[in-house]
Amino acid sequence: MSVASTKSIVDHALDARYGVPAINIVNDLTLEAVLAGAVSARSPLIVQTSVKTVRSIGAEVLVAMWRTMTAGIEVPVALHLDHCPDRSVISECLRLGWNSVLFDGSHLSVAENQRQTVEVVAEAHRHGAHVEGEIEAITGVEDDLGADEEGRRENLQTLIDFVRTTGVDVFAPAIGNAHGVYTTEPELDGQRVSDLVKACSVPIALHGGTGLSRDQFSDLIARGCAKVNISTALKVEFMKSSLTFLRDAEKNSTWDPPSLFANVREKVIGLTVDLAHTFGSAGKAW
Ligand SMILES: [Zn+2]
Repeated sequence: MSVASTKSIVDHALDARYGVPAINIVNDLTLEAVLAGAVSARSPLIVQTSVKTVRSIGAEVLVAMWRTMTAGIEVPVALHLDHCPDRSVISECLRLGWNSVLFDGSHLSVAENQRQTVEVVAEAHRHGAHVEGEIEAITGVEDDLGADEEGRRENLQTLIDFVRTTGVDVFAPAIGNAHGVYTTEPELDGQRVSDLVKACSVPIALHGGTGLSRDQFSDLIARGCAKVNISTALKVEFMKSSLTFLRDAEKNSTWDPPSLFANVREKVIGLTVDLAHTFGSAGKAW
């Protein structure tokens, strides 16, 4: 296998009830390291890019790195655009070859979000790509998007109607999860996941995965969270391991950037392998 459709990756995970790590990368180093981690764990993987990352690297450079680094890769991998309210960025990424996008219309009314999501699904499917939808904002700020106040929650029937009407391939409901670092233990509404999967057979995306316990992951994955988003954990690993390394460099007065990169790479590979084991995706590559 090599680059695969996001739908094939999440449908397989939903059927077999494991979670695919969907990890936000921030640069070339972290992109290469999460891919190496997936190969090492024999795990399918979704690589996510925030709008901020797309803008900082440039969509064309990013997709060129992706193509080069995934050529001949032996596990199923897909490139996904995370929370994007901007239709022009969605169109650009679909045109360049992203495998899926999250159209984030959570700031819109449900009716307007639904109308635009139908358009995005049609546009993505024309490109052979897939769409994740959401109607409730996930609490917390991530890469400059979102708010710390908990957003409104719609009733279950509204969510079911949205999934059926739009034909989204993955759905991200609010279940008490949040982006960033949890300051108190989250109260998760797993029943909402079970109800949505039962009604629509749609793979569920779990946002705000960083900081949840092993038991919380197991429960939600068994209910149908087939895509598990991890962003904060990679950022923390990147920054903290760099900080420790740089403190040692200062102490020893050795200033060698490639050894800093190699250190971060090993940490990110380790993180990816750990996530694949926690989510049950290790060994599931086909
Ligand atoms: Zn998210």
